[in-house]
Amino acid sequence: GFHMKKLIVGNWKMNGDLASNAALLQTLMPKITSATCTVAVCVAAPYLASVQALLSGSAMQWGAQDVSQHEVGAYTGEVSAAMLRDFSARYVIVGHSERRQYHGETDVHVALKAQRALAAGITPIVCVGETLAERELGQTEEIVKRQLAAVIHANGHCISEIVVAYEPVWAIGTGKTASPEQAQHVHAVLRAQLRAASAHADKVHILYGGSMNAANAQQLLAQADIDGGLVGGASLKTADFLSIIAAAS
Ligand code: PEP
Repeated sequence: GFHMKKLIVGNWKMNGDLASNAALLQTLMPKITSATCTVAVCVAAPYLASVQALLSGSAMQWGAQDVSQHEVGAYTGEVSAAMLRDFSARYVIVGHSERRQYHGETDVHVALKAQRALAAGITPIVCVGETLAERELGQTEEIVKRQLAAVIHANGHCISEIVVAYEPVWAIGTGKTASPEQAQHVHAVLRAQLRAASAHADKVHILYGGSMNAANAQQLLAQADIDGGLVGGASLKTADFLSIIAAAS
């Protein structure tokens, strides 16, 4: 809602290295204070230690891009929520469309991942969104509601502790952005669904993601139910990311 401090999260995806990460954060850090919107970066797991060392004591927060659905054990290659918590990760993205598309994640996996994060005291950023084909078939509402319903079903009692990100798949990395009206329409649908599940739904940040940039951020963020952004490509460019942060502050 209009009353909330907005949240801007950079999703670095599988980009960067130790040196470029440090250079980017050292430029951003002094520009981000308690007076600006809340800002976080979600980084590849191997960089959590160095990002934690850089950002500790700053106003910037950090997180990861995925978490295992399992708690502990024989799951080679997986990273648990407890491991993310060891590096003071504040957020973890779950159910990003790239995970759903390329790694076979289903609504059930995403719900379990959100549950693991919440149990470890980490805020899951739950991504939902329709493909272009689904939008053209008029299925947008049905798809995003089904995706969020799975997470609500598994996490009903603490659903107000999550962050939701509406990311139309056709807008991710394509330079095509949902119009502010298209995005607000879906955000209102998601808000209504959260309200039906929780008395505290109005404190849930619902982020927009999909080619958010310096030019379109202001209008998107002016919508009643757009409480921030999940930013991919533009979060790797200092000037663009700072413009989005300024639009949200
Ligand atoms: C994303 O992957 O979460 C995203 C929104 O990417 P982009 O901003 O590059 O479209």
